[in-house]
Amino acid sequence: QLYSDLGDAANHAVRWNALVEEFEARFGRKPAYIARAPGRVNLIGEHIDYALFGVLPAAVERDILIACAPRAGGADLDGGVRAQNVAAQYTPAEFAPARGAQDGQWFLAIDPKALRWESYVKAGYYGVLNTFFDDPAEGVPVPIDILVTGTVPAGSGLSSSAAMVVASTLAFLAANDRLAGMTKGRLVGMAVQNEIRVGVNSGGMDQAASVISTPASALHVSFYPRLHAAPTTLPTTRARASFVLANSRVTSQKAAHARTRYNLRVVETRAAARVLIHKLGLPLKAEDERPTLREVVGRLGSEPDEGWAPEDKSVLRAALRKALEVVDVLKPEGEHTGVTVETMAEWAGMDVGAFRRLFVDWIDVEATYFELYKRTRHVFEEALRVLAFRDACATFAASPSPSPAESEAVLKELGRLMDASMESCSTLYECSCPELDELTAIARRAGAYGSRLTGAGWGGCTVSLVAEAAVPAFIETLQREYAPYAGLEGAALAEVVFATKPSAGACGE
Ligand code: ADP
Ligand code: MG
Repeated sequence: QLYSDLGDAANHAVRWNALVEEFEARFGRKPAYIARAPGRVNLIGEHIDYALFGVLPAAVERDILIACAPRAGGADLDGGVRAQNVAAQYTPAEFAPARGAQDGQWFLAIDPKALRWESYVKAGYYGVLNTFFDDPAEGVPVPIDILVTGTVPAGSGLSSSAAMVVASTLAFLAANDRLAGMTKGRLVGMAVQNEIRVGVNSGGMDQAASVISTPASALHVSFYPRLHAAPTTLPTTRARASFVLANSRVTSQKAAHARTRYNLRVVETRAAARVLIHKLGLPLKAEDERPTLREVVGRLGSEPDEGWAPEDKSVLRAALRKALEVVDVLKPEGEHTGVTVETMAEWAGMDVGAFRRLFVDWIDVEATYFELYKRTRHVFEEALRVLAFRDACATFAASPSPSPAESEAVLKELGRLMDASMESCSTLYECSCPELDELTAIARRAGAYGSRLTGAGWGGCTVSLVAEAAVPAFIETLQREYAPYAGLEGAALAEVVFATKPSAGACGE
């Protein structure tokens, strides 16, 4: 896909030209290629991707652009990179991959515990090195200069990191003349592997959304039995609505806390799956199997090992309803509201030592208690909401000329599902925070059809569905009412609340 097809809603041409000029000023020649990869907003389906249930993200207009050009050089420059960033806070970096003396594999130092901005550039480079240059007969990568600019707010749940890694992968592919034959599916696979190098164990939602999204659509991304993506046309164009994103700007200190809690949720859902298997007498493939909740739902019926076709909504819906009928077995009794590791082990029919070995290496939080029932109910209900959201979109898309009443009805239905998702994230999954509760409450008062946190939560952004005509007043209200709460003023406000249209995935030229 060509960059020039994007339209100019987000000043694409202006930013593109400015980047070309800046590249010339810094490196003394024109860039040979510019790669673009957008951030993404998850519309519905929160915290269910790692349980392997499908989610519904869309690419946003905000993106990362990477301009690059090979540099003339000798052997001492093999694959060497000069990386610069238009934003001054990201200081210039130079690095080069080295071949391991033993195995001959290319190596780039990335410390996941001390990430710098260029770590994401290196991560993109890694995949290209591993895919195309492992065999010495394939030659060596070219030395390259790159210049990065971006408008995805970093660390806000809009996945600036996936945008960085996808754009970087594309830039190194282009500079080394390896774009031919590259499919979107392959690019997603490479980007997922690449982001794992910076320590993010992601299932592929962010990378798939950044690469595969198409304008005016959401992307249904499912993970079981394997990564699969299919576009869903959103009603926003014909029903004249927009998504408005609002950044809570929760401090990074709190965000660090979020990582621990995130890991805890991963363990809770896996442990819950193991407990369900035992309590419901479902088959287990091996003593040390750690099935996902998605697999448990499959075993409740008689799903083949390969899973149902991702499009087979009615079978999955029936299985999820059945799962909700039995989820009560995870309820603690009496006054006790949480479950300790000891209780979980007992429920899972295992001795505590074996249970710890199976799960505790996944977390560094031991002295805590777990809420298996609430977490699991959220996962099953949220998975059903994703199906309902897709159904509402599909029905509307099938209507040849929807009436104003039909438009209003579909927006209300999507909004209702978004609100229900927020409520569930807040009370069952407990991944909200006062700032996100406040932002979504203001959004509803200001007339949004629906509003919810997006991304992992505990900070980051909210997404609201708003009638197009009402967007300017809506943004103004959110800024005015949230600013005192977050201690913001002036120019910072524009960065906090902005509208976005579902945008196209990565491209370059
Ligand atoms: P998220 O993916 O939710 O935005 P992450 O913590 O995963 O948050 O990734 C944010 C990191 O990505 C930043 O700390 C920074 O290193 C990198 N990053 C994001 N945007 C840019 C940019 N425009 N230029 C350089 N690095 C960026
Ligand atoms: Mg990220």
